[in-house]
Amino acid sequence: MITEKMRDVAKDLLTKGEVNMVIGWEKGTFWYNSTPVFITKAEDVERLVFDEFCTNNLAKYLLDYKTAEGKVAIFVKGCDARAVNRLMQDQQVQRDKVYLLGIPCGGMKEAAPGTQPQATEGLPLVEKCQNCTSPNPVVFDVLLGDQVSVRDTQNRFAAVEKLEALGTDEKYAYWGEMFDKCIRCYACRNVCPACSCRECAFDGNGLNWLGKQNNLQENQMFNITRAMHVAGRCIECGECERVCPMDLPLMAINRKVIKDLNELFGAYEAGMDVENRPPLGQFKLEDPEKFM
Ligand code: SF4
Ligand code: SF4
Repeated sequence: MITEKMRDVAKDLLTKGEVNMVIGWEKGTFWYNSTPVFITKAEDVERLVFDEFCTNNLAKYLLDYKTAEGKVAIFVKGCDARAVNRLMQDQQVQRDKVYLLGIPCGGMKEAAPGTQPQATEGLPLVEKCQNCTSPNPVVFDVLLGDQVSVRDTQNRFAAVEKLEALGTDEKYAYWGEMFDKCIRCYACRNVCPACSCRECAFDGNGLNWLGKQNNLQENQMFNITRAMHVAGRCIECGECERVCPMDLPLMAINRKVIKDLNELFGAYEAGMDVENRPPLGQFKLEDPEKFM
């Protein structure tokens, strides 16, 4: 049982003083919630769990401890591990400051709020897991459990292709309707492991990058800029779409950018390793330059 292994390894690391903190999941308020937990004492490891509801990608929390003394241990599913690589590639996280506890992931499930506890087999996978290309951690120090098989993800661009088939006016109308709903809470940015600038352009008061009004023009500017800032760096963890309180189809924008980059520069999946730099983070003589 993964939960038992998690508790054992966390207890061992904390007792020996090899790490100062373990970041994992614990049961939340409801049976269908498992939420992030930060364990600093060996006697608290019983709080740790791994089940079908550990949906949150934990990697972004590493930024809160990047200047702390000692090491932090963190449990990583496939998407969390890619997020850690992403942060290491941006030199936001140092490899020798983290202890990575890999967990092969069979996919996270979704239950409608208010429903009674039931067999989790019948519950649907969350969207981000339906299209996950890397359920097994791509980087780890210890792997808890056996590798799982990779789901068929050939249709992961289906939503993008459907939108691409629309006419220009229809596309504009569709995205206008979506962006009009955005409340600019910036939850999508805050949760994203590809958004790691200490000072974000959208928080500045003096540079006039973006007005503070919550209207369609400013919302469009924010959403398109956000998508372009993570171009080639988005690991498709789906966290932005999951946390958006207005249910904006953010993965359709992210995947449109990924699809275009793949067609222009060759297939690339962000966060699979630290060495292979993103297409827009390097220059090759054979790069397309039709715009020049
Ligand atoms: S999370 Fe959703 S509502 Fe909030 S800023 Fe992002 S797109 Fe807008
Ligand atoms: S843009 Fe969304 S899907 Fe991509 S890395 Fe950021 S949170 Fe994950």
